[in-house]
Amino acid sequence: MIRRRIFDEEHTLFRDSVRRWMAEHVAPHAERWRSEGQVDRDVWRAAGDAGYLAMFVDPAYGGLGLDDFRFDQILTEELTRIDSSFYMPLHNRIVAPYIDSLGTDAQKQRFLPGVCSGECILAIAMTEPGTGSDLAAISTRAEDKGDHWLLNGAKTYISNGQLADLVVVAAKTGSGNQKSVGLFLVERGFEGFERGRNLKKLGLDGQDTSELFFNNVVVPKDNVLGAPTEGFRNMMVNLAEERLGGAVQFAARAERALEITHEFVTERKAFGQAIGAFQNTRFKMAEMRTQLDAAWALVDHCVLEHLEGALTADLAAEAKLFTSEVEGRVVDECLQLHGGAGYMDEYEITRHYRDARVSRIYAGTSEIMKEIIGRGLGLDGRER
Ligand SMILES: Cc1cc2nc3c(=O)[nH]c(=O)nc-3n(C[C@H](O)[C@H](O)[C@H](O)COP(=O)(O)OP(=O)(O)OC[C@H]3O[C@@H](n4cnc5c(N)ncnc54)[C@H](O)[C@@H]3O)c2cc1C
Repeated sequence: MIRRRIFDEEHTLFRDSVRRWMAEHVAPHAERWRSEGQVDRDVWRAAGDAGYLAMFVDPAYGGLGLDDFRFDQILTEELTRIDSSFYMPLHNRIVAPYIDSLGTDAQKQRFLPGVCSGECILAIAMTEPGTGSDLAAISTRAEDKGDHWLLNGAKTYISNGQLADLVVVAAKTGSGNQKSVGLFLVERGFEGFERGRNLKKLGLDGQDTSELFFNNVVVPKDNVLGAPTEGFRNMMVNLAEERLGGAVQFAARAERALEITHEFVTERKAFGQAIGAFQNTRFKMAEMRTQLDAAWALVDHCVLEHLEGALTADLAAEAKLFTSEVEGRVVDECLQLHGGAGYMDEYEITRHYRDARVSRIYAGTSEIMKEIIGRGLGLDGRER
């Protein structure tokens, strides 16, 4: 594996302690979580006690004030090595930043301490039954009723949807202006806020993914996040970090797949020799190692850019596109090298194969990533 040059001694020590924590708090439960379709709330509180939730949050609001993305990167890498059920990365680096960057002082006082302790699990709801990639076409609507907003609509495929205590919901707020969108903080127990099924999926079995329904939900004015017309722009700003977080996960999952496949091809014999000794296996392993090293180099470069506040939407899209495509090829080749064992649930590779399929779809599909990158190249047909 390529030498990771972006980490210091303190990051290495952090990784060691995270690895021990995951071995104690995640590994023993992962199989049960996968069969139950969601994780225990206890693991959220344990992560909060360990200081792993929304580490970047100011200590005044219950966080550690540790705004160095590399610590979150390490958490994600170590978690993904073991199991992807516990969707802490979504809470930590996708949703919490919305509250932190757009929230009023009062909103931060109210919500962030629970976000950091694990009492308040977060989700974000953009996708709807009728639209995903085309966010401007959402039909969930919030009407300004003077002293409150009235929210109506439905969302789907929402991660942490069953467990969430607080959901950031994107809704149309204007009539004429297509992009007039607001973000609303919908709390567990709000009247008219209902959860649908925990959706059965191809992979990521331990992550709860749900439909959410909003029927005349009264949302107090205090629960509007940012300007109620600027939600679209705010989502675009936060999507770059979301895509980088995804890229970390995808590379980590592919790395784990390669690691277990290396063990398998070393031990498994055919025609009197280890299958790893066949030239085909060696070449496949070499190709995968090379692609993954390139993926890590890109991920780590993006992390450094992000630390300097210089990560662009285009570059984040490149990282998401490249790592998810590499991951897809790696898990497929790794499964092939397992032979029939690769099709059996008792072998870990099967799970990574299934979990990886969504990487090219969520947080923006590969096609949408190419659109973003292509537009950055000035190839959108618009006159300049
Ligand atoms: C497991 C899982 C978890 C998820 N978690 C969340 C969550 O927490 N919150 C949330 O809001 N959403 C979530 N999503 C939704 C996810 O982000 C969307 O599924 C994704 O953005 C794609 O949208 P769609 O499903 O509507 O597909 P569509 O937009 O209907 O796309 C269908 C196909 O058309 C292609 N396509 C669309 N537009 C173009 C174009 N302009 N050019 C070329 N091709 C195009 C797409 O690439 C795709 O291949 C989750 C999805 C899954 C599967």
